Amino acid sequence: MNEFSLIDTYFKSPARSRADVIFGIGDDAACLSVPPDHHLLVSTDTLVEEVHFSSDWDPYDIAWKSVMVNVSDIAAMAATPSWISLALTLPALDSHWLNRFSQGLHAALDTHNIALIGGDTTRGPLSITLTIHGLAAANKAVKRSGAKKGDSIWVSGELAAAALAVNYLHDTPCSSAEMLILLDKLQHPTPRIDLAPLLQRFATSAIDISDGLSADLQHICKASGVGALLNLNTIPIHPLVKKYMGEGAVNLALNGGDDYELCFTIPQQEQSNFIEALAARHLICYPIGVIEKELGMRVYRDRPHDSKALTPDGYRHF
Ligand code: ADP
Ligand code: MG
Repeated sequence: MNEFSLIDTYFKSPARSRADVIFGIGDDAACLSVPPDHHLLVSTDTLVEEVHFSSDWDPYDIAWKSVMVNVSDIAAMAATPSWISLALTLPALDSHWLNRFSQGLHAALDTHNIALIGGDTTRGPLSITLTIHGLAAANKAVKRSGAKKGDSIWVSGELAAAALAVNYLHDTPCSSAEMLILLDKLQHPTPRIDLAPLLQRFATSAIDISDGLSADLQHICKASGVGALLNLNTIPIHPLVKKYMGEGAVNLALNGGDDYELCFTIPQQEQSNFIEALAARHLICYPIGVIEKELGMRVYRDRPHDSKALTPDGYRHF
């Protein structure tokens, strides 16, 4: 098998198409049709062995997570994913690995009706780069920069299970069933595409929580030129993290990463409409604080005037 039959066998033949793909894999570039009155959103994420996944993972899960972290970036913009391209660097042509990887890739893409439209295949240390394309009605994508004083700050789900799985699994006396739950949170994040219509309607800013809540909320604050005050008692934390991390649970929720929930802001006057819209769709999100005019982030437990400064300590590559 050479590079071309590899592309054909694992990526081209099993790929499902969409009506808006004029042509995809097989030419020097893919040709795509953007619907009228829509904007195209583009985002790239690279996954590297021992940074984003470990070598003992099933290649199916590596592919699944690679897709989902990219989908999460589109979810954070309140858009809908449509197309993806794959730049794959492989140390060797291992058909078992490629089989599992491509199964996971196509299954993940099918889940969100995303077409694989092209890519690049090279030899070298294992690395996976996906470029995802999403669509949103013109001017409806939600940026990081729109948060205003008085907006409430929300998180879309319980945090820190993935961080517990990455950092403390070996030191945590959990049962094998609990270990599977934690590993599942790490390997199979659920990007919050389901929130896109509500974010488009109500949110002034949004971000996905990939590096940790404090670091990612800080991006919103900096981009918006505002500060944030968080009530630590209201930060949603996964029950297994509470069970095993005790006092350290809230720190892991603030500074752990890999959750791929969303953090977003809702203006005060839209708050009750937003809560109603959530309930109508049987969705649960958690208000955790408020945007302030003063720059910087602060946290408190019981009384807002007993707050202290929060210094983000999320994941950084350098
Ligand atoms: P070129 O030499 O013009 O860069 P390639 O030989 O790398 O083209 O790729 C041939 C076709 O296969 C292109 O349409 C490219 O987008 C696609 N392709 C290459 N690698 C992958 C991959 N890993 N997954 C999906 N499509 C791929
Ligand atoms: Mg070419």
